[in-house]
Amino acid sequence: MKKINTRNLLLMCAGLISVGFLANVASATHSWGGYHWARTANPFALKLGNNLSSADWTSHLSATSLDWNSGNTPLITAIVAGTSNKRCSMVSGTTQVCNGTYGNNGWLGLASINITGGVHITQGSAKMNDTYFNTSTYNNPNERRHVMCQEIAHTFGLDHQSTDGSSQNSCMDYFSNTGANAGSNLSTKPNQHDFDELNLIYAHLDTTTTVLATAASSSANDIGDDPNSWGMLISQSGNGRSSTYENTNRDGSKTVTHVFWTLEAAAKCPSCDHRFEGH
Ligand SMILES: [Zn+2]
Ligand SMILES: [Zn+2]
Repeated sequence: MKKINTRNLLLMCAGLISVGFLANVASATHSWGGYHWARTANPFALKLGNNLSSADWTSHLSATSLDWNSGNTPLITAIVAGTSNKRCSMVSGTTQVCNGTYGNNGWLGLASINITGGVHITQGSAKMNDTYFNTSTYNNPNERRHVMCQEIAHTFGLDHQSTDGSSQNSCMDYFSNTGANAGSNLSTKPNQHDFDELNLIYAHLDTTTTVLATAASSSANDIGDDPNSWGMLISQSGNGRSSTYENTNRDGSKTVTHVFWTLEAAAKCPSCDHRFEGH
């Protein structure tokens, strides 16, 4: 009997997701695969663990957290002390936010989430690569804010609004705040469409919660510095700046990763898997 109830509730959840999905398609969705944090009530707090090593990055985290909280959506970000490490290992029930000189690996920003039950996010990480942000091309407040705003929001279950380089004036696009546009603050914040999408994604309630830390999640489902741990390349934008990877873990959960490549890595060979090129 208990089993049937659970199954019915799961079906109900799946049904609601399907309805949401159809609605999203009608309004040009940028939900990331229907992925969302499970929770039994709205609004809910998503903890952002601050592992940042500079006051500058911390100021961008504070600002982007406020920006995401300004949209009247069920998802409220709450900055807490970081409990990760430089590699930004994921911590159950949270998104860990990190910066570091991760090397000349071609990526500016990286966002990973673990998924159980097909759609539920159990933990996330957002990493900013100072190897590039410390160089003149990327070292400006607008580019830093844009990338941080986007990587964190991937862990909410949001995908891009656009990847062609045009500005939708949303940080979920690939406008580049570099070169002649270094002084432009276009695309450094979420826009109304992002908030609308979050309201769609989080309209339903679940019977379980993944936003509270549990012992169940494990670092075995983490992705490491080795890009082979990202798994299979699932999709890549035409200009090569945006890629998605997916790895199936031993416990049946999935880890999915969004990669924000540098201009240079993308331009070299837009259709290549940039993991296997020299940068
Ligand atoms: Zn759900
Ligand atoms: Zn992205």
